[in-house]
Amino acid sequence: MKMSPRYDRQTILPEIGPEGQEKISGASVLCIGAGGLGCPTLLYLAAAGIGRIGIVDFDRVDETNLQRQVIFTVDQIGHNKAIAAKARLNALNPALDIQAYPEELTDKNAQDLFKKYNIIIDGTDNFAAKFLINDAALKTGKPFIYGSILGFDGQLAVFNDNGGPCYRCLFPEPPKGYIPNCAEAGVIGAVAGMIGTGQAMEAIKLIVGHKSFKSLSGKLWIMDMHTMENRLLSLTKNPDCPVCSKTKEDIKLQYSSPVCNYVPEIPPEMAQNAMLIDVREIEEWNAGHIDSAQHAALSGLMQGNMPELPMDCEILLYCQRGKRGLQAAQILKENGYLNVSNMAGGYEAWLKCFK
Ligand SMILES: [Zn+2]
Repeated sequence: MKMSPRYDRQTILPEIGPEGQEKISGASVLCIGAGGLGCPTLLYLAAAGIGRIGIVDFDRVDETNLQRQVIFTVDQIGHNKAIAAKARLNALNPALDIQAYPEELTDKNAQDLFKKYNIIIDGTDNFAAKFLINDAALKTGKPFIYGSILGFDGQLAVFNDNGGPCYRCLFPEPPKGYIPNCAEAGVIGAVAGMIGTGQAMEAIKLIVGHKSFKSLSGKLWIMDMHTMENRLLSLTKNPDCPVCSKTKEDIKLQYSSPVCNYVPEIPPEMAQNAMLIDVREIEEWNAGHIDSAQHAALSGLMQGNMPELPMDCEILLYCQRGKRGLQAAQILKENGYLNVSNMAGGYEAWLKCFK
């Protein structure tokens, strides 16, 4: 059968060749998150002709995503990211089998999803998801390509490939305390592009497996894009690693969503237990809010206007879609409130569930 000229520029490379392209066409990759990392990764994987690509993302495209999430267009704002990314990849390379999973990766669905693919790409921005990806990748015996970005810094590694070190050999447990993600700490789109593109490259190297390739298995590539200085650290397998020293059967998956409470699990009478606080601005509050809530706008909290509530009171915050609530939760915690959580998806999700 004559091959289409689509891949000529890569099959001409002696490291790839027609055999390498056949491996690429026969490979499958699952990308967790179609965000700043996932978007460039997915574009390059689809362009290279990875035969089967899965995209897991429960979030929706937001205007503030467009600065770095280069798959999406203005008319996709408000659409689910996995489904919107699938549409773009289908248009780019219609021959591929692209699956969208518009759901959150959890300890419940991770194994079933991972089993269907050869390689897992971590396009997430929070530790809870990264630890879950690591543990589920170990349990299902899949390598995973890790990426992480913040501000001008990026990191890239391949974990759990052929008995190589895992993410927990490097970080045994999730860090304690509050860690900002991109939404809160900021990131340059091109930094996400550099690391995401590197993740696609590592996936292609694992798939093709040419002898000249050295993957980032057992390495951590760290890049400071203020100066473009980079370091390649060697990682070793930790014999006491809390996860990869165990057998697959003994690995127990755990996940607690970083957005604390999942709306569908919060009963409508939730205000009987927790004090609900709406942290949106006054115009948004006036346009509609949950009846039992109090109002304390994030802008006021940032200026130090704390709600008059006991420090041990159980507080559940919500904003429009969940992000400002996280920021407000952090401010309250820093001001001594002990039991603060944020409603995932915010007021919009609540309306969907209970109205
Ligand atoms: Zn390990």
